[in-house]
Amino acid sequence: MPELPDVEVYRRRLERDGLHRRIKAVEVGDTRLLANVSATALRDVLIGHAFEETRRHGKHLLVRLDDGRWLTLHFGITGDLQPFAPSREQAPAYTQLRLDFARGAFAYVSRRKLGRIGLVEDAEAFLRAEALGPDALEVNEETFLERLSGRRGAVKAALMDQSVLAGIGNVYADEILFQAHLHPKTKLAALDRPGRRALYHAMRKVLTTAVKAEAGAERLLDRLPNDFLLPRREAGQDCPRCGDALKALQVGGRRSTFCPRCQPPPDADA
Ligand SMILES: [Zn+2]
Repeated sequence: MPELPDVEVYRRRLERDGLHRRIKAVEVGDTRLLANVSATALRDVLIGHAFEETRRHGKHLLVRLDDGRWLTLHFGITGDLQPFAPSREQAPAYTQLRLDFARGAFAYVSRRKLGRIGLVEDAEAFLRAEALGPDALEVNEETFLERLSGRRGAVKAALMDQSVLAGIGNVYADEILFQAHLHPKTKLAALDRPGRRALYHAMRKVLTTAVKAEAGAERLLDRLPNDFLLPRREAGQDCPRCGDALKALQVGGRRSTFCPRCQPPPDADA
């Protein structure tokens, strides 16, 4: 599922190859992905105009048109945003929104059709209505500590709760817990202030490293450093730190991969 580092890669792709180019043609695949606009209205708004600015908040990508309106993109479970050259290649399979520029084209790809495409007048109002917490890459330590204070439950659930912090999903939450030496079942209540600060710095390290490596779009996880968990997350691989076999367990209905030695269960701490 696309998370902050993935969406940041899509944003950079658009920034590089999708701005200041007149939109020639727009094709919508499955209209169920359209949040608040019809396919006809979307075409009417986009064609003849150009994108001028990109913005990302958590897993949302927003693109400002030259008339001030914003295209909003959310990628659901399997979404992707890929440039392609229509003169040489076909649009990727499962393209749900195709944008042809005067030169080049972009495809919003969604195999399972769980993403969302919208058009809004006001980016700030849109983000407020989504009730998102601060962006996980932008948030400072003080605000991070505030967002966690008074909360209960598992650390992992808090990291993944978009209303607490926006951008982290199951994959990067596993890496953050690994880097912070925390078992997936660790409760927030078990973390004192230094523990929470260490968690913040692990989160920063993971997100900035992933963004810098352009490791987004999951297949590129092998671009992450050797001491990261994610490139070895598939079953049967060993911990990059101690060499023990990694394990997986279900936490809150989601699969968590962890190292039993580097991330001992909370009870063992006592
Ligand atoms: Zn280990």
